[in-house]
Amino acid sequence: MPPIQHALLSASSAYRWLKCPPSVMATKDIRDEPSVYAEEGSTAHEMAEYKVRKYLGEADIEPPLTGGFDAAEIDRHTDTYLYYVTEKIEAIRKSCPDAAVLVEQRLDFSNYVKDGFGTGDLVIVADNVIQVIDFKYGKGVAVSAERNPQMMLYALGALNLYDYLYDITTVKMSIVQPRLDIISEWEISVADLLEWAENTLKPIAKLAAEGDGEFNAGEHCRFCKLRATCRKRAEFMLDVAKHEFAEPAELTDDEIAGILTIAPDLAKWADEVFAYAQARTINEGKKWRGFKIVEGRSKRRYENESRIAEICRKNGYKVSEIYKQSLIGITDMEKLLGKAKFKELLGDYIIKPKGKLTLVPKSDKREEVNIFSQFKEEI
Ligand code: SF4
Repeated sequence: MPPIQHALLSASSAYRWLKCPPSVMATKDIRDEPSVYAEEGSTAHEMAEYKVRKYLGEADIEPPLTGGFDAAEIDRHTDTYLYYVTEKIEAIRKSCPDAAVLVEQRLDFSNYVKDGFGTGDLVIVADNVIQVIDFKYGKGVAVSAERNPQMMLYALGALNLYDYLYDITTVKMSIVQPRLDIISEWEISVADLLEWAENTLKPIAKLAAEGDGEFNAGEHCRFCKLRATCRKRAEFMLDVAKHEFAEPAELTDDEIAGILTIAPDLAKWADEVFAYAQARTINEGKKWRGFKIVEGRSKRRYENESRIAEICRKNGYKVSEIYKQSLIGITDMEKLLGKAKFKELLGDYIIKPKGKLTLVPKSDKREEVNIFSQFKEEI
């Protein structure tokens, strides 16, 4: 497989660099940290690509290896993606039998963004319409297709390739995130897309390519390679905290609500700074004023379980005393039996106790529990 090339102003990082243009040049020499999640995502993408290519009739292709990742889970989620993709392809082919279907297509949008290109998971080009579909294997954050710059850049790349062949007026975009059970869809007219490309994208991309523009911190910092040491982000975090704690007297309810809102971001940022500093100490011997390196707490464990059992038995302890037998967990049991069999055989014997009451932001997907009727005071 050829090495994967990444554009400096890539489509996948466009959300960040459109908000903070100088982040591109500020991070260009920082290498990407390998991550098990990224590796898992690539593996799932390869499987998704394989399934779509097979569906499209490509012969002589081998399924990718799933390495140490959960093959059954990857299979299930890539099936969801395949199902969605095939529905879209078939629906479009009904009205346009010669629609072009592009899998893992390099999409060049360098007429708007210096050296800009990306790889679209799936693009369908038909009369009047381009459909861009992106597969995301993450399960952390739900990604919306609405005004999603990565998708809009892919669409521009696809228009560059096909606009002269088809009279395209609309771009449809979908992000399939099967592990979150979410499919997000959005569409925009080609006229509006081109207006955005000329008047918003192009000038900001120019700033980014030249290392100009203002640093601007926000939730887009999450995937920035400078996030742990960025001064602007530190100022932003500390400013937010300062503002929230501005009143010296007791906090008001509104202030407490404000602190609850920013606390997760502050905690995450502090963790990132800590992880950065700790990694530099361990990997480079860097010293930080007021800090030292120690061994963390560890748990005792058997060095050799069969040797331990043998010694105990020789010394008169019974097998039933030194071993305990327990059922495998529910998730493993469900995997063993399969979902349908699990439900049929064991469904009546599985209970789901109520979870511990937890305060979460309104945006959380879980349903609100009504505990307020028991309190006299109106909240
Ligand atoms: S951490 Fe945030 S503010 Fe700093 S360079 Fe990155 S995106 Fe910009």
